Amino acid sequence: MFWVVANKLKIFSVPVVLLFAAGFSVQYLSRMSQDGYKLFLIAPYLVSVLGIFLSIHFHRGRPFIAILLLGTFCWISRTYLSEQQIEFTLNKLYQAIILLIPFNMALVAAMKERGVFTAAARVRYSFLAVQFFIAFWFFKYNFIFSLPVLAANLGLPDMLAPNLLTQPSLLIGLFSLIVIGLFAIFRQTLIDASLFGALIAFLIAANRTNSPHIFTLFTTTGVSILTLGVIRDSYNMAFKDELTGLPSRRSLNESLNGLGSRYALAMLDVDHFKKFNDSYGHDVGDQVLKAVAHLMMGVGGGGKPFRYGGEEFTILFPGKSSKEAIPELEKVRKAIAEYKLSIRSPERPKDKNNGAKQRNNGTKSSTVSVTISIGVAERGEALPTSQYVLKAADKALYKAKNLGRNQVCLS
Ligand code: GH3
Ligand code: MG
Ligand code: MG
Repeated sequence: MFWVVANKLKIFSVPVVLLFAAGFSVQYLSRMSQDGYKLFLIAPYLVSVLGIFLSIHFHRGRPFIAILLLGTFCWISRTYLSEQQIEFTLNKLYQAIILLIPFNMALVAAMKERGVFTAAARVRYSFLAVQFFIAFWFFKYNFIFSLPVLAANLGLPDMLAPNLLTQPSLLIGLFSLIVIGLFAIFRQTLIDASLFGALIAFLIAANRTNSPHIFTLFTTTGVSILTLGVIRDSYNMAFKDELTGLPSRRSLNESLNGLGSRYALAMLDVDHFKKFNDSYGHDVGDQVLKAVAHLMMGVGGGGKPFRYGGEEFTILFPGKSSKEAIPELEKVRKAIAEYKLSIRSPERPKDKNNGAKQRNNGTKSSTVSVTISIGVAERGEALPTSQYVLKAADKALYKAKNLGRNQVCLS
């Protein structure tokens, strides 16, 4: 249980390290040289531009919005807040920002990725603009009346001195943080985890708009966390198969490079999958591949599954011989053969009448299943490199196909 939770929390590691690093470096900020300080002041903008560029390049609309929000927040705060020596809690702009940014970050976490320049993304930008416009308009005429609510004392502990953040904004911030954190934990996506880190950085910066050092440091940290999230997420994508969630062939090649002298490798292929697709459609085919991949993830003996391509998979057993791998592969083969996927209709009705007939016959839901064939080989004197082992496993796989499928064959 402990390891399951720890594993889920690993997703936050980079944002948390960056936040701690920022917190640690606060004490050194006053020792910076003049030139260093000049560079430091433009750092949030430099990193924002880099993050925006990368988000566009990798079609990541969610971090794009978050970086835009933080970058604009930095610019507005510097231009309109720090020069006016008025009380921050009385500043309408400040109140609008600290309420709307956490809320919108949570909204971004809840959104699906829809790119940067797509129609869906434009709707999101319009929604953002409308929201901020309404907030400014509302505060322009009703600010004095809403102040007792905005600055209400909710009895939250005073842990963020000097407390520029009012208690209601702190509450919205914490609530948004919990929402984003839950998304990150359950979906295990790096972008959600960076939104989480960026919101913490924002809350610290927004609480210290009166201290240029801390403000700049934490806005820079916030956009850096998001930018790193974009880079890491895009890098990971190349190594992960989107449909099944299994590591991709590229990832297999990488794993093969770092192997010792003893390992077994299995090639797995779904039987008669072309026919299956023809009978049930490509979408049902995709669902089956997902289910098959999921069952492969449960392989024992330290086996590591990959999607090799199409309906072909590979399982790598580092440190194991073929003999040791076979019982584990047999379990996987059996589990897949016994698995039944429920589908709505065995064949999409071609016309309505036919569909109604099928429903009346009670055949509207049924199950489908597939089998797989497996070939396994191990590294040895006759097969000294991974390329040889792969070829031998592939040969064994075709032996399994020829012997009637749904079985494991040794090279
Ligand atoms: P065999 O038992 O000999 O392996 O027969 P097969 O029909 O599975 O043989 P083959 O490898 O020629 O066919 C593979 C088929 O798998 C072709 C293609 O329609 C299907 N396929 C490959 N990738 C995907 C995918 O991502 N989704 C779906 N639905 N089908 C796929
Ligand atoms: Mg095939
Ligand atoms: Mg096949």
